[in-house]
Formats: sequence, C-alpha cells, structure tokens
Amino acid sequence: MRMLELRDLDAGYGDLQVLWSVSLDVEHGEIVSLLGSNGAGKTTILRAISGLIRPFKGKISFKGRDITQLPSHKRVELGLSLVPEGRQLFPMMTVIENLEMGAYTPRAKEKMSDSLEWVFTLFPVLKERKNQLAGTMSGGEQQMLAIARALMSRPELLALDEPSMGLAPKLVMEIFRTLQRMRDEGVTILLAEQNARAALEISEKAYIIETGRIVLHGPSRELIQMDEVRRAYLGI
Ligand code: ATP
Repeated sequence: MRMLELRDLDAGYGDLQVLWSVSLDVEHGEIVSLLGSNGAGKTTILRAISGLIRPFKGKISFKGRDITQLPSHKRVELGLSLVPEGRQLFPMMTVIENLEMGAYTPRAKEKMSDSLEWVFTLFPVLKERKNQLAGTMSGGEQQMLAIARALMSRPELLALDEPSMGLAPKLVMEIFRTLQRMRDEGVTILLAEQNARAALEISEKAYIIETGRIVLHGPSRELIQMDEVRRAYLGI
C-alpha cells in the first residue's frame, strides 16, 4: 500500500519559494530517507507533509486520500505524526506528562496505557526516568522522548526531522536501530537527515534534495555505492 505521495510540490514562506516540484513516494513498511545539507529544504518538506505550511502548488496524499488542505491535527488523527526539528518538548513537564500530551486524539487516548507500555519497551530509559523533568535530561534521552511522544498518537507514518542532531555516533546508532524495530512493528518511517551514512544504512530508499529540488533517488544500497553520493554526502 502507498502510504504517502507528494506530487509536484512547490512550497515556501511568503514570497520565498523553497521547494520546486518535489515528488516523493513512501510505501507501507518502508524506512525512506530524505537527505540533504543544511538549508536544502528537508524541514520545509516535512512541514508541508504535516500541515504546518500550505504548499503553493502540488498534491499530498496519505493512504490514498488527498490531504493537501487538511489541518495538522486532522493529519495526526489519520495516522501521520512528526518528530520536529529541535524536539520541541515541554521542558518543565515530566517524561510521563510529555508522553500524555502526545496522546491527544480520541483514538490515542483510548490506547494510552497500551501505548505507554509500548514506548517504554522501545525506550526503557524513559520508564526509569518517567518522573524526571524533560528539560533536565540528556540530548539523547530528549530525542528518545520526542520520538516516543509522537508514537503516543499511534501513527502509521512517522516523519522525523534530523533525530541525530547533536548526538554522539553511538547514540545515533542506538536510536536508528530503534527506528528499524518500529518499522518491523508496523510504523512506516520518513527520516530527514544530514547524517547520510547512518540514514542510508537503515533505509530501503532515499531521496536527495539540493536547493529545494530532488536531484537523485533510488534504493539506499545503490545510492551508497554512487561516486557522486560518496563524494558529496559520505565524505569519501
Ligand atoms: P536544516 O538542516 O537547516 O533544517 P533543511 O534542509 O531542513 O535544513 P529548510 O529548513 O527546509 O532546510 O530550509 C530551506 C530554506 O528555507 C532555507 O533557505 C531557509 O532559510 C528557508 N526557510 C526555512 N524556514 C523559513 C521560514 N520560516 N521563513 C523563511 N524562510 C525559511
């Protein structure tokens, strides 16, 4: 089943056009990475997908339904959630309170205790720290909490904006392995990353964006072999 489809998306801010005719497909059960350097337009794509900005032109479909004009919270109800850049936690609230905030739709509220158990299995450290204030946790723990909070809405598609940012390589691998486990448990994943190597290693497919245009896409195992990708994104 096709989970997400972007067709010829133009988007930006005011008069500034950032995205130029972006098309992209995510199939059910995949991890798809969206790679690009700082300012390439990854965040803008995720904002358009999650409804935080309206595209100038083009179409966004989720599970076969046109969601281009749908407000953000309706997209969350349909099963599409975002882990935003910079985590956006509530620092003065505890871990458990942050998680409860993630389960705000009626469907998610019903499954709250089940969901808590699920995210504590994925991220055991959050269970140990459930009464700690989010703002006092380490960067890695905060990233785990941001992902877990998004999972509390029981998404079918989870979009993540640079979850590796500011984290040590070992932690990045730990979090990325958990993304694979989430995928195995039925959550489809769209992963925007500057860390191309780690993202290519765990994804089935990847899209590369430069100055707002998709310049290359294909199976991750093929992209990782390409000279132009190795030179520009893997530092080889
Ligand atoms: P980063 O790694 O910095 O998040 P990115 O690939 O996610 O990079 P975007 O954040 O989508 O890139 O930015 C793409 C372009 O849009 C940049 O030129 C940026 O300056 C511009 N831009 C982003 N947000 C806004 C905004 N709110 N208002 C105006 N311009 C913006």
